[in-house]
Amino acid sequence: SRTPIIAGNWKMFKTVSEAVAFFEAVKGKAEVAGVESVICAPFTNLPALVEAAKGTSIAIGAQNLHFEDNGAFTGEISGVMLKDLGVKYVLIGHSERRQYFAETDETVNKKVHAAFRHSLVPIVCIGENLEEREAGTTKDVCRVQTEAAFKGVSAEQAAQSVIAYEPVWAIGTGKSSTSADAQDVIGYVRSIIAELYDQATADAIRIQYGGSVKPNNVAEYMGQADIDGALVGGASLEPDSYIALVEGA
Ligand code: 13P
Repeated sequence: SRTPIIAGNWKMFKTVSEAVAFFEAVKGKAEVAGVESVICAPFTNLPALVEAAKGTSIAIGAQNLHFEDNGAFTGEISGVMLKDLGVKYVLIGHSERRQYFAETDETVNKKVHAAFRHSLVPIVCIGENLEEREAGTTKDVCRVQTEAAFKGVSAEQAAQSVIAYEPVWAIGTGKSSTSADAQDVIGYVRSIIAELYDQATADAIRIQYGGSVKPNNVAEYMGQADIDGALVGGASLEPDSYIALVEGA
């Protein structure tokens, strides 16, 4: 059976001192037996957070990585560097990266391979935008993104991965997907993994829902058969709210 995983995506929020103060406030509380708790923070916060997380069950994640290990790529951060810090998870292909920073299915796939090269666990983000939703192509979009992201990825690696299904129209809008709709898409994504690999891999991979998840709706998502957790933006920024999310899982 799959361990539920709640991940906070802080996006471009929090200085180092704010990050450390948050961590001190959630330590011991956002730590619930049987639930994995992950904070995906800006790069600048990662050294302090990894240090603060020592001796706790909370894991630290980055929000991006470059697909090369080193090189003339001004402004970029590689998997080598993240691994060296002690980071465990890395978000890949968040819709904001796809939308504002020209990430494509191809770069997402390269980044997934880079993560595995350095034993980082990828949280691969997929999801349709409003136009695609209205055109009825949600599942097709998720299929294309999932197949592309996992190209050349072994079954063993896929089984350890996390997928975050985040409908773009639900991000930061307060308009969350219904739990039934999220289950429908996430169940479909799991069936794609079964097709690409086998049932054991599909049964092992964890798939989160993301998009306006709050303490008051997290349990409803968690009650769905194929939803293994949540990737949370806004509601992960305040300690009490984050604690409630982990408790609600
Ligand atoms: P919100 O929880 O703020 O809607 O953001 C979701 C998200 O993008 C998490 O990656």
